[in-house]
Amino acid sequence: QHKRVTPGVVGVFSSLLYDKLNEEQRLRDGLRQAIQRQQFHVVYQPIVNANDSSLWAVEALARWQFNDQWISPALFIPLAEKTGIIHDIGNWVLHRACIDTAQWPDDTLAVSVNVSVLQMLSDSFIRQVDQAINSSGLAPHRLHLEVTESIFADDMAILTDRIAALKARHINIAIDDFGTGFSSLSLLQALDFDLLKIDRAFIQQITDGNDTIVRATLLMAKEFGCRTVAEGIETTQQAEVLTAMGVDCLQGYLFAKPLEKKALLKWYTDRTG
Ligand code: C2E
Ligand code: MG
Ligand code: MG
Ligand code: MG
Repeated sequence: QHKRVTPGVVGVFSSLLYDKLNEEQRLRDGLRQAIQRQQFHVVYQPIVNANDSSLWAVEALARWQFNDQWISPALFIPLAEKTGIIHDIGNWVLHRACIDTAQWPDDTLAVSVNVSVLQMLSDSFIRQVDQAINSSGLAPHRLHLEVTESIFADDMAILTDRIAALKARHINIAIDDFGTGFSSLSLLQALDFDLLKIDRAFIQQITDGNDTIVRATLLMAKEFGCRTVAEGIETTQQAEVLTAMGVDCLQGYLFAKPLEKKALLKWYTDRTG
C-alpha cells in the first residue's frame, strides 16, 4: 500500500503521482459502468454554410456526467481508448447520433460522428455502422465519420478496406483536425476523403497574417475534390476572412456551442423562423 513520505521533493512528487493514479483508477472504474448508468449524452454543434450561415450539418460530441461533474471528452476518450471501452462508447454515440438525426424535422441534415482509429480497426465496426443505419433508418449519405490524421500511423491495409466499405455505402468520410498530424499527400489521395476539417490552431493564426497553411490546405482540398470545414470560428472577422478564402463550411462558438438536441432544435427554429 502507498505510504505518504515525509516532506521533501521526492515525497511531494510521489504523493502527487499517487493522487493522479488514484484519480485515473476512479475514472476508469466509472467509465466501465457509464453506459449502463446512462451517464453519456450526445450534444450537437452546428456546422454552417459559409456563404449564407444556413445549417449544413451537426457534429456529435460525447459528454460524460460522472459524480455531478461533466468530464471532458478530451480526458475520457483517451482513457476509453487505453481501456478498450471506446468500442462500446463509440458504438453508443453512433447509434444515438443516427437516431436523433433520423428524427430531425428536415431530412437533409447530416451528422458527423467522431470515430477513434481503434474502432475503425475493429472487425465489428462495419457491422455496427450497418446496425446504426438500419435501426435508425437514416440515409447513409447523411452520416459523416470523422477520423484524425493519427490513423495514418496505423494499419493502412485494414483502414483502406474499412474506408472502401464505408464509401460503398455512401457514407462520407471526414479528416478531422487537419494539419496537426503527419499525413502524406499520397495517403490523402489514396484514402479518398469527402471532407477536410481545418484545425482551430490554424484558424487562430490567420487574423495575425499567418494564412499560408490554410490557403495551401484549401487549394489541396479543392484538387482532391474535398469539401472544407474551418473549425473553432469565434469571431466574425475569422468567418469573413475564411469565407473570402473559399472555405465551404464554418463551425465554432460564433454560430453555436455544442447543444443538447432540444436546444439545437430551438436554435434552428429561432434562425429559420
Ligand atoms: P473535435 O472532434 O475536433 O471536436 C471539436 C472540439 O472543439 C469540441 O470539443 C468542440 O466543443 C470544440 N469547439 C468547437 N467550436 C469551438 C470554438 O469556437 N472555440 C473553442 N475553443 N472550441 C470549440 P469537445 O466537445 O470538448 O471534444 C474534444 C474532442 O474529443 C473532439 O475534438 C474529439 O476529438 C473528441 N471526441 C468528442 N466526442 C467524441 C466521440 O464520441 N468519439 C471520439 N472518438 N472522440 C470524441
Ligand atoms: Mg471532430
Ligand atoms: Mg476537430
Ligand atoms: Mg480537435
